[in-house]
Amino acid sequence: MKETKVFIVGSGPSGITAAIYLKRAGIPFILCEKSMVGGKVALTAKVDNYPGFTSIDGVELALNLQEQLKQNEIKVTYDTIQSIHKENELFYLEGNKDQYIAKYVILATGTKEKGLGLDNEEKFYGKGISFCAICDGALYKNKDVALVGGGNSALEEALYLANIVNKVYLIHRRDEFRGDLTLVNKVKDKDNIILYTPYIINKLSGTNHLEEIQIVSNEEVESLSVSALFIYIGYIPTLEMLKEDILLDNGYAVVDENMMTSLPNLYAIGDVRKKNLRQIVTAINDGAIASYAIGKRENE
Ligand code: NAP
Repeated sequence: MKETKVFIVGSGPSGITAAIYLKRAGIPFILCEKSMVGGKVALTAKVDNYPGFTSIDGVELALNLQEQLKQNEIKVTYDTIQSIHKENELFYLEGNKDQYIAKYVILATGTKEKGLGLDNEEKFYGKGISFCAICDGALYKNKDVALVGGGNSALEEALYLANIVNKVYLIHRRDEFRGDLTLVNKVKDKDNIILYTPYIINKLSGTNHLEEIQIVSNEEVESLSVSALFIYIGYIPTLEMLKEDILLDNGYAVVDENMMTSLPNLYAIGDVRKKNLRQIVTAINDGAIASYAIGKRENE
């Protein structure tokens, strides 16, 4: 059992920022990560809208974040937190490897990828269906692949894939894209990105690996032979480890201006909280605010 003042769950940009600010304020904390420091940034092809960097690879930015942790002498505790509950003003966290007690918890747990919910979809996970172009794109060099979604993630990853594969069939359920106009224009300028809008995917087929998808628009049905399907249709907030009721909006944690949830001393930062704009800059903002607020309360 380990005791600390603040327990940060998740080491994406928001969790790392919270850790750096706590360190500088001299407040003891544990920064806990279940897999990879940097969060989704490490799985992003290019980051073009982070001030101070005209353009940077996601992996490079994640490595910079790791380096900054090292420079600040912040160690990462690798554990998967299974449950969090509060008793007598303290939080009890149950990990796969250890148990923890803390006065404050900062949830920086981000979001998980949403699936299409098609019949045999899960059968193709890792066998043609991927949620990560950076991780799996190279497997489909010079092949034809499909990508579904119309937000910034879908557009960015379609551009990334277009440089590796032969053709990207970009399938979106509406004619208008949700993503930024600059990205939409870049996608439209790419010869090997073929747009299918408004289309939905209604069938997946293949023996051991995905081979074909069926798409539908206004009763027009088409079949596309593909080696892979990349799904970028949004995310679900990761809050299942929390065993306490808090105020949610569409599944996202509602916080006050200090990033505190409706449960006193429980903070939520980054993509897991209700907000209008999910970006690295807004995640970092949240981390700094939460740690500053905790620091102020500790010094009251
Ligand atoms: P998103 O913005 O929520 O877009 C999800 C897309 O998937 C939408 O186009 C949506 O269609 C479509 N979709 C949702 N459910 C679907 C379903 N069941 N079947 C088919 N299509 C479906 O998600 P995101 O692109 O992953 O982005 C998440 C957040 O991160 C956003 O706030 C985004 O701006 C941000 N982000 C920013 C950047 C950047 O600024 N460079 C990069 C990546 C992500 P509809 O449009 O019809 O609803």
